Amino acid sequence: LITSEQLKYVLSYTASAVDELKDELNALDRAIGDGDHGHNMSRGFQLVLKNIDNIKYQSLSEVFVFVGTTLMSSIGGAAGALYGSLFIQTGKSLPSDDKELTLDIFVGAFEQGVGAIKELGHSDVNQKTMLDVIVPVLDLLRTDQKINLSMISDYAKSQSQLTVNMKAEKGRASFLGDRSIGHLDPGARSSQVIISSICKALTLV
Ligand code: ADP
Ligand code: MG
Repeated sequence: LITSEQLKYVLSYTASAVDELKDELNALDRAIGDGDHGHNMSRGFQLVLKNIDNIKYQSLSEVFVFVGTTLMSSIGGAAGALYGSLFIQTGKSLPSDDKELTLDIFVGAFEQGVGAIKELGHSDVNQKTMLDVIVPVLDLLRTDQKINLSMISDYAKSQSQLTVNMKAEKGRASFLGDRSIGHLDPGARSSQVIISSICKALTLV
């Protein structure tokens, strides 16, 4: 399905994209949070990058768990635990042998990962969080329509924009109440860029 070299390419491409986004994410988080989201995300993905050559590729499952534990231990903040659980739970739900992997099975595992965010965050869609990008993308992957990588990427982008008009009900931004309206959610932006980078990198490998 995907070789370890290709996977390393996808991860390093994504890590660079997150790093380039650092200032923007800090600024978004400064507007409705405490301004650390860019630093948090960049630190996490740089550590993934640093350890990338130590990955002994056995299965996609192990790589997801590796990425999740690395992010969990390094990102900090709410997003660290949430992104960490997403990757760890997705990884644990993937088959241990890539030969058994199909798109349906991948989507099922991703759904378990999204469930882990909801459970840990006591959160769901329409609360102005990363879930407002991740859940619609999961739903798109589940449709019977013919979809391609650029559609997924565009959809993530348009969904992230919808968080601008939402009122935050979770995380620090929720302390602002109605004043959170009118700002793009930093976690929605980081999720969108992670998803778009993965899609883009997959077309380049
Ligand atoms: P912190 O708020 O601890 O400083 P970050 O700034 O790194 O953490 O991350 C903030 C982002 O995390 C928010 O923009 C939002 O998307 C996401 N988030 C916060 N709380 C939750 C939650 N309960 N469920 C889902 N996502 C959340
Ligand atoms: Mg923050």
